[in-house]
Amino acid sequence: MSLDEDLARRLDELRDQHLFRELRRVDSPQSPHIQIGSKNLLNFSSNDYLGLANHPALKEAAIHAIEQYGAGSGASRLISGSLAPFHELESALAQFKKTEAALAFSAGYAAAHGVIGALLGKDDIIILDKLVHASIVDAAKLSGAKIRVFAHNDPGDLEDKLKWAAGAGQNSSERGCVRSASRSIGESAAVARDDPAALPEFVSHPSATRPATPGARRILIVTESVFSMDGDVAPLPQIIALKEKYGAWLMVDEAHATGLFGENGCGLVDQFGAAGRVEIQMVTLGKALGSAGGAICGSRRLADFLVNRARSFIFSTAPVPAAAAAAAAAIRLVQSDEGAQLRETLRQRIAGFHAAIGRNQPGISTAIVPIILGDETNAVEASTKLRQQNIFVPAVRYPSVARGAARLRVTLTAAHTSDDIDRLAAVLNALATRE
Ligand SMILES: *Cc1c(COP(=O)(O)O)cnc(C)c1O
Repeated sequence: MSLDEDLARRLDELRDQHLFRELRRVDSPQSPHIQIGSKNLLNFSSNDYLGLANHPALKEAAIHAIEQYGAGSGASRLISGSLAPFHELESALAQFKKTEAALAFSAGYAAAHGVIGALLGKDDIIILDKLVHASIVDAAKLSGAKIRVFAHNDPGDLEDKLKWAAGAGQNSSERGCVRSASRSIGESAAVARDDPAALPEFVSHPSATRPATPGARRILIVTESVFSMDGDVAPLPQIIALKEKYGAWLMVDEAHATGLFGENGCGLVDQFGAAGRVEIQMVTLGKALGSAGGAICGSRRLADFLVNRARSFIFSTAPVPAAAAAAAAAIRLVQSDEGAQLRETLRQRIAGFHAAIGRNQPGISTAIVPIILGDETNAVEASTKLRQQNIFVPAVRYPSVARGAARLRVTLTAAHTSDDIDRLAAVLNALATRE
């Protein structure tokens, strides 16, 4: 079979399963209204939650960076591409996230691969929430670590996996392992295993809980703080208590929380008062921060180690300086009064939408509101009907969500007006009653 014949067959399969996807060309900036073909659509698909992607302050910073540093970065950061805007972005990020250091990557996807691949190898264990983003799943697979998955947002199931991991460590023929962690790093971790209440308040460096024996088994838990397709929130306090009890490390992907929660929008980890107790925080710069790229925030040693060991950082040309400068401008903006005002507007839009479609708001409500339709065909049809009314809400299907869990994924932004929200709700309510 030729490649083309093989592809034709596989594409037909996707079409048969209503899983075929194609690109829609957009001829306007990201905003509540986008131009697709001849149509102007009311847009509820963007992760640009604060409306910063087209904000004058970000555009100005990007233009200024281009004028000063050019359009391209020339090389990997380790060769000659470590331009000033990246260093400025990283200090801004570390200050914003209340961590010692930060390291910028070309994308969140690359950041996940860089950090997980650098930290873990085949003797280690990674424990993932069932619904973590594909970038984390792929990175975990590539790292070669043993993967365990716990039921979504279920601390009980996480504890089962941690117990298994601790046992796997103790039964292992390798030196060190989990048991040696408590021996070799002294009292605090030894206490932690038996009595979590006796834990020192903060474990500020990843190295503090790290098995000191070379080759010892490492255990990393990864969750998102706000889940990208469901918009719900991880039980971080319980997860942190468990990772401390079992001497594991924790990575929290703040892609959909950065800019939106916590003091000055620094994230949900901070809102839970846990900044010093999470070893690794991942940030994306392309969502509420309105630019593009990703970053890992944590200790100085973590950043130093990633510079030396993160392959997606080392073997990749640095992002364009304009992206870094725009992200740094966004970080300044979200910490300003204007940022606080945008978050307040977003909160009002979210509350307004829940009220208009007759839903109760969850405890911590986010800008992502899934309307689960199950069947892939239903989701695509609903999205098409909305588009006929000049409203763009994407149908999200496998592989972005599980098969049979297809949905409309509504994302609300501070740039929407309350009329925009009412219009969407009216059409959704009409669709629901017609069915
Ligand atoms: C978008 C996203 C990523 C990937 O970030 P990019 O910068 O788009 O590559 C990672 N994790 C989550 C939860 C995301 O939503």
